[in-house]
Amino acid sequence: MSSKVVIVGAGAAGLMAAACLTKAGIAVSLIESNSAVGKKILISGGGRCNFTNTKASHHEFVSQNTHFSKSSLARYSASDFIDLVKKYNISFHEKKLGQLFCDKSAKDIVSILLNECDKSLLDLHLNTKVLALDSNLKVNTDKGDIEASHVIISSGGLSIPSIGASDIGLKIAKNFNMKLVETRPALVPLTLNESLLEYTRELSGVSVSCVVKSNGVKFSENVLFTHKGLSGPAILQISLHWNSGDEIEIDFLPELNLELMRREVSRRGAKKVENWLCQYLPERFVMLWWGVHELSERKGAEWSRGDWEKFESVFKRWRIIPSGTEGYRKAEVTRGGVHPDELSSKTLESKKMSNVYFVGEVVDVTGWLGGYNFQWAWSSAVAASDDIIAKLS
Ligand SMILES: Cc1cc2nc3c(=O)[nH]c(=O)nc-3n(C[C@H](O)[C@H](O)[C@H](O)COP(=O)(O)OP(=O)(O)OC[C@H]3O[C@@H](n4cnc5c(N)ncnc54)[C@H](O)[C@@H]3O)c2cc1C
Repeated sequence: MSSKVVIVGAGAAGLMAAACLTKAGIAVSLIESNSAVGKKILISGGGRCNFTNTKASHHEFVSQNTHFSKSSLARYSASDFIDLVKKYNISFHEKKLGQLFCDKSAKDIVSILLNECDKSLLDLHLNTKVLALDSNLKVNTDKGDIEASHVIISSGGLSIPSIGASDIGLKIAKNFNMKLVETRPALVPLTLNESLLEYTRELSGVSVSCVVKSNGVKFSENVLFTHKGLSGPAILQISLHWNSGDEIEIDFLPELNLELMRREVSRRGAKKVENWLCQYLPERFVMLWWGVHELSERKGAEWSRGDWEKFESVFKRWRIIPSGTEGYRKAEVTRGGVHPDELSSKTLESKKMSNVYFVGEVVDVTGWLGGYNFQWAWSSAVAASDDIIAKLS
């Protein structure tokens, strides 16, 4: 087996790189351990793939170098990918907050990427696992070795091992003495300890619109109670900024100013506060919270300062320390990876190993929930491919 450019992993970034390179007339060996390409794309966005976010900029990415993604995102932006989707007449919609989803199926995105490849230059090796890369750019697979002039590592993160996730990209980087940023599951549900679960578990399935804060970052979206702890978009988002042992604070009544609420409740003196509150929050949640936290049963007009303070601490500033996360099995992404210091931010080429590139989720650039991670995969793949095209032309 021999080829010019070898791409490790036929996920989002690998397919995009294969499309760019083959279109430029460059032969590519695309190696994938799964029996099919783009498996994560297919399960993404509930099967409809949130393929980009119209607001994508470097601000929505967590990295040791917060400016690292700037150049790639500028070179190939959300609007470039939207143009590609439009070129194939794939219908899509904005769900919320700039998040674009396919109307029909995530399969449309995989089809676009495969269609963009010049098949005559694409040597696709499915069911083939990359085991190592040596300093002569010989790619060792479980089916034999492939000599490469350039290698793009697009092997992704560690989440969802059941569909092919592996640490091969990190192993290769480590072998070349490249620095790694510690990896951990992100965009993942958080777990609670037994003393909290004792009552929160009873709310499994209840979803509340909240503001969630941790480490100076806050998100306004829904929180979902689960039988293991907390999930929902606000929790997935905050999990990206949360470290083990950190506190999170939840405001279950973000629209309600406590002072106005006090006045309103006093005005309707005859009403019990918990009954009044049910117009803003699910009744099941209000009643359970009331009982568990032993809030005052008196009518609103009779509440003391202490009653209000207690109310505020459990409804407006509920502070807890999650016991952990649900791990890579449930995480949408991996935070951490190849350290940005080791790569050119313009081309994603390794500074230690010429002609070796790391793109997509294997790099320490992790986006918020909402299409940002695919945009990083597309943008970083284009940046690396453009550099190889320039070198080979
Ligand atoms: C359930 C779920 C839903 C998601 N939804 C969204 C969404 O809607 N929007 C969004 O922006 N992001 C979403 N993400 C995140 C997004 O899927 C990833 O960030 C993105 O796929 C990363 O692209 P990548 O090419 O770097 O890695 P991947 O797409 O994971 O591709 C890596 C490929 O490398 C292959 N591979 C790994 N090891 C080897 C090896 N040793 N040899 C050969 N091949 C190997 C893997 O099988 C895989 O095909 C979701 C993730 C999950 C898990």
